[in-house]
Amino acid sequence: MAPMQDGASQAYAADQQDELDARILGVVRQYWGFDGLRPIQRVAIRAGLGTRDSLVIMPTGGGKSLCYQVPPLIDDSAEGKPRTDVVVSPLIALMEDQVSGLRANGVPASALHSGLDEKQQAKVEADLKAGRLRLLYVSPERLGSSHLVRLLSGVRIGAIVVDEAHCISQWGHDFRPEYRALSSLRRRYPEASLHAFTATATPRVRDDIVEQLKLQNPEVLVGNFDRPNLTYRVLPKDSARKQVLEIIERHRGEAVIVYCLSRKATERTADAMKAAGVKAAAYHAGLSASQRSKIQSRFMAEKIDVIVATVAFGMGVDRGDVRAVVHMDLPKSLEHYQQEAGRAGRDGLSAECVLLYSPADIAKWKSLMERSAAEAGLSREQLEPQFELLRHMQRYAGSMSCRHKALVEYFGQEYALPEDATGDGCGACDVCLGEFEAIADSAQVIKKALSCVARIERHAGRAYGANHIIGVLRGRRTAEIESRGHDSLSTFGLLKEFSAKALGSIMDQLEDRGLIERAPGEYPVITLTEAGVEALRAPEEQLPTLYRSRVAKRSESGDGDWTGVDRELFESLRELRRDLASERNVPAYVVFGDRTLRELARLKPSSPHELLGVHGVGRKKLDEYGGIIIDHIWAFTNGSTGSGASRSQERRDTAFEMFDSGAGLEEVAQEIGRTRESTRQLLEAWIESRRPEQIAAWVEPKVYAAIEQAAEAEGPGRVSRICRAVAGRASVDEVSATLAHLRVRAEA
Ligand code: ADP
Ligand code: ZN
Repeated sequence: MAPMQDGASQAYAADQQDELDARILGVVRQYWGFDGLRPIQRVAIRAGLGTRDSLVIMPTGGGKSLCYQVPPLIDDSAEGKPRTDVVVSPLIALMEDQVSGLRANGVPASALHSGLDEKQQAKVEADLKAGRLRLLYVSPERLGSSHLVRLLSGVRIGAIVVDEAHCISQWGHDFRPEYRALSSLRRRYPEASLHAFTATATPRVRDDIVEQLKLQNPEVLVGNFDRPNLTYRVLPKDSARKQVLEIIERHRGEAVIVYCLSRKATERTADAMKAAGVKAAAYHAGLSASQRSKIQSRFMAEKIDVIVATVAFGMGVDRGDVRAVVHMDLPKSLEHYQQEAGRAGRDGLSAECVLLYSPADIAKWKSLMERSAAEAGLSREQLEPQFELLRHMQRYAGSMSCRHKALVEYFGQEYALPEDATGDGCGACDVCLGEFEAIADSAQVIKKALSCVARIERHAGRAYGANHIIGVLRGRRTAEIESRGHDSLSTFGLLKEFSAKALGSIMDQLEDRGLIERAPGEYPVITLTEAGVEALRAPEEQLPTLYRSRVAKRSESGDGDWTGVDRELFESLRELRRDLASERNVPAYVVFGDRTLRELARLKPSSPHELLGVHGVGRKKLDEYGGIIIDHIWAFTNGSTGSGASRSQERRDTAFEMFDSGAGLEEVAQEIGRTRESTRQLLEAWIESRRPEQIAAWVEPKVYAAIEQAAEAEGPGRVSRICRAVAGRASVDEVSATLAHLRVRAEA
């Protein structure tokens, strides 16, 4: 039996732990308004309070930031001086977002980076010296500067946090040379504990992080990589733009990110969406920094619903209510995929991630990689790590097993079904949801398709591309097929019951299963692999099953999430949030997340006390918004026009009546008590619904003509370009009204 003493000291230690947990939870409630912590957060926060180094690996959306933001707020001021923690972050936008989020919650935080002017910088430094900051964000190159080193020598640093730590590794997917400078941190700040955070790290990258940062005996914490609220789908890519539009249609009015490989594709796709009436914008590295940051902030402020972007978009984009992430092209690694797709549903509510897949993308990537390796003077062998990452990506896209399981296992974890799973696998991927249908007589279909490939090659003495083969299988008499005599082959018309699209998907599946291969390069001709030759003779039961994908049913972003939510109230709260955010010039999510709005629209709190019980409402937000929210909910539920009509509807009606009689923006804004920005949007809405002949009351004909001319020159969707073209001659109000009117005229 254990001696008494031990038992007693264990009990004492357990008590202390409980006490610490209670303090942590108290801080999280007070500042963030969260009810509890995710299991790994609790452990990671404890690590941040201790003296040991740590490496924390959590998927995007897992709640990393809280882990390092809480420790400096837990006051153990035995040493008199308050604690300041330092966070290294790779991007200014990322730092600024975090700082504004923290301040909105009442946490004193600042950032030092090259974007500050002298005055701003002096202010941050003074705050730092005076011990007023709990968190200081810095860029990696700053941290090494002797000026900052001197400054920090007077500060009690509890912990130094390296965010996005995979950037230090060449084995990772986002290597940043400036991160290399961080290897001196351990030596330079022996008193502080060092904590590395990353969302994606395969074992090799993990080891590299520990080694490069010289972490000492770090505690390694790995969060759950599964994101059960995300539904993953892979659709065979055939008419990408149309497929994307269908997905967007399922998410009208919601936030969506679409990723494409090329800049041109982002612009074309965004234009197609705008033409369909979607508030969309293209985003890529070819835009100027200021254009990009403008698009980002408009997206954050909910003025744009859909961003069509290259991978240049994402880091630091922290809109929690993204309801779908669509990939029009295959990413080059599962790390990329996981990170980009992970931007969906960060608020924990349901969201979907759709990958449009064609094996042709693999060939495209390979030749891109080869070309850039040749330019950089790398050997084929040095390319191997990249090819390996790509092979994993291909395997994921081509597989017919659970996507959640595949992703989690790739990141080195075992997959456990969610607790509420009802039998059909994860319940949140196309495979488990049964959105694929097995093709009857798959084996026969495979043999017919393969023998067609073989016959054509034997007959013509050379291989042909997929379209030609599909044409022969469907029995099409094209000029090419007839002139080559391929209409006389025994395989001609052998699979004519399939559409060209279905056969395209079948060819893709044969490729994914290693039965055929596509030559890389400009003319991707198709040949049988060795396995393909064997398959021709193999017994049928040894051949794989082929599938056709059914159209995904409309996924009503998770019905469960909406139980008891008054949708109209939710919408009017969203509008209120948009106004509050634009008045304060912060992104909408900084005011409140969607989850908070849904709870408000479900619980309809009527007192500050009830309000504090709502997810996402802490002390600071209660002080700042409590009165407004309670008034709003009260007015909504006691609306004079009966329970259904919301105040925003009334406002809209009033505004429309005033516009009917030609009232100016300023006047209407005053009357309805709304910002200029939202009144401008109302005018746009009025133009679109009333379709007036002319809008001379708001835009003088001369100004109108100038804007129209700019719109013709720049393209009607290029709002910021148009604004620049008419700068000094027309206001933003005039541009937006004119563009709305031009849209109406174009439709007429
Ligand atoms: P990461 O940086 O890991 O991608 P974030 O720190 O941005 O993730 O957090 C993702 C989302 O989860 C945010 O919307 C945040 O408000 C929410 N969140 C984090 N921790 C909690 C918690 N303990 N309870 C409820 N929501 C949380
Ligand atoms: Zn599944």
